[in-house]
Amino acid sequence: MAFLDHAARTIFLTEFIKGMGLTLKYFFKKKVTINYPHEKGPLSPRFRGEHALRRYNNGEERCIACKLCEAICPAQAITIEADIRDDGTRRTTRYDIDMTKCIYCGFCQEACPVEAIVEGPNFEYTTETREELLYDKEKLLDNGDCWERQLALNIELDAPYR
Ligand code: SF4
Ligand code: SF4
Repeated sequence: MAFLDHAARTIFLTEFIKGMGLTLKYFFKKKVTINYPHEKGPLSPRFRGEHALRRYNNGEERCIACKLCEAICPAQAITIEADIRDDGTRRTTRYDIDMTKCIYCGFCQEACPVEAIVEGPNFEYTTETREELLYDKEKLLDNGDCWERQLALNIELDAPYR
C-alpha cells in the first residue's frame, strides 16, 4: 500500500512539473489572443464585409447602373432601378441590398466594371431589427464616403494579384 502511495505521489509530481513547465513556456510567449473589441486583428485587403458604393474624387457616383451586380448575385439580394439623367448619363434611382439575403460571396464586387460596389473591411454592423439590414442607396453611398480611404487602399494592395 505504501508502495502504491509512493508511486502515485511520483506520478502526481511528474505531471505537476510537466504542467507547470508548459504553463511557464506559454507565459513568456507572445499572446495569441486579443482583447476584442479594444484590440483588433489584422484583416486581409480581400476581406468581404459590409457593402459600400464608392464615388470618384469629384463626388460623382461611380455606379453606371449596368446592373451586372444585380444579375450575378446568387442570393438575388440586389435590386436596382435606373434612369437617364439630364446630362445624358445613366445612374441608379434605386440601389438596394437586402443584407439578410447576402452570402458575402463577393460576386457583385467582381462583376462591377467601375469598382463601384465593394465589400469593405467593416464587420461590426449588427442591428436590433431586420429592417436596418435592408440597405438603400443612401446608406451604401454613406458607407462608401465613410470607408473610401481604406477601400481605395485595399483595391490598390490587391491589384497585383488580379
Ligand atoms: S456579396 Fe454575393 S450575395 Fe452578397 S450582394 Fe454581392 S453578389 Fe449578392
Ligand atoms: S455597382 Fe457596378 S456592377 Fe452594379 S450596377 Fe453599378 S456599375 Fe454596374
